[in-house]
Amino acid sequence: MTVGGWRPARVSSVTTATPTARLLRLDVPGWPGNEAGQHVDIRLTAEDGYQAVRSYSLSSYGPGESIELGVDEVPDGEVSPYLVQDVRPGDELEVKGPLGGYFVWRPGGEGLVQLVAGGSGVVPLVAIARAATDASAGASVRLLYSVRTREDAMYRDELEAFATPGGVELTWAYTRQAPEGWTGRIGRVDESVLRASVWSAELQPTVYVCGPTGFVEHVADALVRLGHSPDRVKTERFGGA
Ligand SMILES: Cc1cc2nc3c(=O)[nH]c(=O)nc-3n(C[C@H](O)[C@H](O)[C@H](O)COP(=O)(O)OP(=O)(O)OC[C@H]3O[C@@H](n4cnc5c(N)ncnc54)[C@H](O)[C@@H]3O)c2cc1C
Repeated sequence: MTVGGWRPARVSSVTTATPTARLLRLDVPGWPGNEAGQHVDIRLTAEDGYQAVRSYSLSSYGPGESIELGVDEVPDGEVSPYLVQDVRPGDELEVKGPLGGYFVWRPGGEGLVQLVAGGSGVVPLVAIARAATDASAGASVRLLYSVRTREDAMYRDELEAFATPGGVELTWAYTRQAPEGWTGRIGRVDESVLRASVWSAELQPTVYVCGPTGFVEHVADALVRLGHSPDRVKTERFGGA
């Protein structure tokens, strides 16, 4: 039963994604299913009744009562360190959702799709990549994923496995340190990186940009300068600077 839209959820598994991030799988009785790109609100209640609510994107999509979140720890944060370090299978929390109807991908009719992720902003884009792959639409999707280092990449193995001929095309951008043998530049995603790796504006892709607020605004502005129509650039801001 839901009260005020909140559903009880039980953690079914916790998986290490990076040194600072965990994938949480939750069983949510009565979950109505969700589209690729949507998010939930998570509510935690302490023994003294204190409550905290934060939004988390879903890397899962479709029907079923099991959902997946990917949480990266924000140092000194209130909620994310608990979700990353302390949550264990069997723990209970509350979920509201699915939320968001704008930052979603639906099979059929979308044309080319460009995904641009910064850090944990990859989570809803993983759902889109999974949904597009399942709908045999992977070839129309490109993902540019900006991470500090290779070790900071969430879903790294799965994303690299998607990147087969006819699958989602993946380009890495490293902001701090690149793996051995990397010949590209290291640094913030800029217009030259976007020009080299995203579908060009003439092809009129729908672009999904997600990550920390500063990253999203910087990338969205650069895309518009490169000729992408602002109404084809969908953004999801995770907060922070
Ligand atoms: C729609 C939506 C979807 C989201 N999906 C995800 C997701 O899939 N995975 C995920 O890890 N996070 C996601 N977030 C961010 C998440 O909601 C929290 O903001 C984040 O986990 C930090 O919460 P906290 O309580 O630990 O930090 P807080 O105690 O709220 O904040 C501590 C400090 O960190 C800063 N801060 C807050 N958020 C961020 C951030 N994202 N990056 C850098 N600094 C920040 C604050 O400004 C503050 O100074 C999403 C946010 C939104 C709005």
